[in-house]
Amino acid sequence: MNDINTALRKLPSIDVLLLQEQAVALEKEFGRTAVRAVYQRAVQQQREKILAGEGAGGLPENLHQAAATLLRDSVVPSLKPVYNVTGTVLHTNLGRSALPTSAIEAINGVASQPCNLEYNLQNGKRGQRDHHVEDLLCELTGAEAATVVNNNAAAVLLVLNAMAEGSSVAVSRGELVEIGGSFRVPDIMKKAGCELYEVGTTNRTHLHDFERALDDNAAAVMRVHTSNYRIEGFSTEVPEAELAALCHDRGVPFLNDLGSGLLVDLAQFDLPTEPTVREAVESGADVITFSGDKLLGGPQCGLIVGRKDLIARINANPLKRALRCDKLTLAALQVLLQLYSQPERLQEQVPALRLITREQAEIRRIAEQVLPSVADYFANSAKVRIEDSKSQIGSGAMPVESLASCSIVLEPLPAVSDAGDQSAKISPNSIARQLRELPTPVIGRIHKDELWLDMRCIEDTSSFIANFQSNKLH
Ligand SMILES: *Cc1c(COP(=O)(O)O)cnc(C)c1O
Repeated sequence: MNDINTALRKLPSIDVLLLQEQAVALEKEFGRTAVRAVYQRAVQQQREKILAGEGAGGLPENLHQAAATLLRDSVVPSLKPVYNVTGTVLHTNLGRSALPTSAIEAINGVASQPCNLEYNLQNGKRGQRDHHVEDLLCELTGAEAATVVNNNAAAVLLVLNAMAEGSSVAVSRGELVEIGGSFRVPDIMKKAGCELYEVGTTNRTHLHDFERALDDNAAAVMRVHTSNYRIEGFSTEVPEAELAALCHDRGVPFLNDLGSGLLVDLAQFDLPTEPTVREAVESGADVITFSGDKLLGGPQCGLIVGRKDLIARINANPLKRALRCDKLTLAALQVLLQLYSQPERLQEQVPALRLITREQAEIRRIAEQVLPSVADYFANSAKVRIEDSKSQIGSGAMPVESLASCSIVLEPLPAVSDAGDQSAKISPNSIARQLRELPTPVIGRIHKDELWLDMRCIEDTSSFIANFQSNKLH
């Protein structure tokens, strides 16, 4: 007890510490407020250690060191780049798609200076932020008008609220999907102030089912792309054009949530086709919603295209103001859409398209280049080999289709204990953790007790290799 009291008494005061050379140096770099705060924390930590009987602690030198560490850690961003070798190209948890270089330049261009976000340079009057992308969206989709919000979930919420607040909306039971754990059609419907009118059954829905809903005063019909799953076998769904004709006959809007909207036909890249936004417009949808950062390969946003009168109604809804995009998003989106009007350059310029169309042979070459440094790094913990594998697009796009790819596989070695007996194996989780602890974390996938690193999304091979080498110095 006496020792503890002595140690506590020996803890230097904050004011004394702050006058010492090391603290003065830190103050020049980080400012007085932050420095004082970390010294208080450092002293507090020491005090707790002493009270817990963990040593006498309180040397000024230790406190200066602790304060410096706290300060340096406080300026390291927690949001940082990682290598996505999960095999899922558009991984929502990893930020979905990387942006085209020109879109990044556009973001830089408007981030550091004022810009004409809502200012018309021709007449010097107030402008509209969506005008920077509306014409392009109309050209690319054939729609009459367009608007943009924060993401596709926001787009659906806004559209439902603007079209059918206080009324019911007919949706096929086969389309009442949950996407990515938090987007559920019934929940969004409720939050939008609409009542869900369920139509048909999970596997079969007919036109007369929708007729009945409209007889019951449904104020709109919504189709939802069943992004992340597919009903196969004994199933029927009503063709979009028939649904549209029925809605138009009854004077209610036909809404189509495409999820991963496409502006070009993927058949030109030898990928399975998905309906394009233009096809949805041509089939008669009045309002169409889709994501900016799924297959489109752009920034996070939700795109809404459709009939001019309905888009005007959507823009006049107070939720639009709450859900609008910022200038950085709009800058990137405009450049992305400009790339879509030059289709020959798309595959090369848009990372999402470049990565999903990558040839297996090229991915294997990457795996072969990278293999020695990975093998070297894990020399004591895993046996390393190359295997063919399948990657998927992700974010609900084409759930069933997978892409031929190539992976580096880490098979954990038996752990050698101090006594030399090979009892347990090193766990795949501990290898996954080591990968996450690299300077740029490497995020793979555990499959059958092995770690699979799908090389599809690795483009800068030398940085990837250097990442495994730099860490060895520590
Ligand atoms: C992904 C998806 C959404 C949600 O889009 P976010 O861009 O993630 O907000 C909504 N509807 C469908 C059909 C989707 O696939």
